[in-house]
Amino acid sequence: MRCPYCGGLDTQVKDSRPSDDSSAIRRRRICPDCGGRFTTFERVQLRELIVVKRSGRKVPFDRDKLQRSVETALRKRPVEPERIERLVSGITRRLESTGEAEVTSEAIGEAVMEGLKGLDDVAYVRFASVYKNFREARDFEELLGHLAAGAAQAAGADEASPADASVPIDPAPPARRPRSRAS
Ligand SMILES: [Zn+2]
Repeated sequence: MRCPYCGGLDTQVKDSRPSDDSSAIRRRRICPDCGGRFTTFERVQLRELIVVKRSGRKVPFDRDKLQRSVETALRKRPVEPERIERLVSGITRRLESTGEAEVTSEAIGEAVMEGLKGLDDVAYVRFASVYKNFREARDFEELLGHLAAGAAQAAGADEASPADASVPIDPAPPARRPRSRAS
């Protein structure tokens, strides 16, 4: 595993243990070249997913990329890494279990927003502002409406795990899934 700090390839595992929910093995690693310490996770991947971007371009689903965008939204927020981990795992599992080989980037964005909504309001607004671009003022008002409703809900359901938010994802605009194999 390449060192994220210096790029060295010779990193060593110092410690391995299951994550809190036992859905992953976390390994603490150290880089002998620069002394950098970091953690890696080993997880089940149920299936290969392809992401269909707005442009129509298709790329393999990248859990790390998903995690980075969630972490960016949660930067400096008081949320434990384990909860972020659970959120990202929950989103990933939901995407994997749709039964479709392809998932739109919109659907991922919606899933992240659903997850963040239950986890941290500030992160939710941050993510949504980037994701939606606030193209219209109406979007923003809608968002504030969601937040108000979410706060009211959260008051009663604090123990509910946001990672497996049972809240159905808003139906995304119908995915254009070209059945191009025939042509
Ligand atoms: Zn290093």
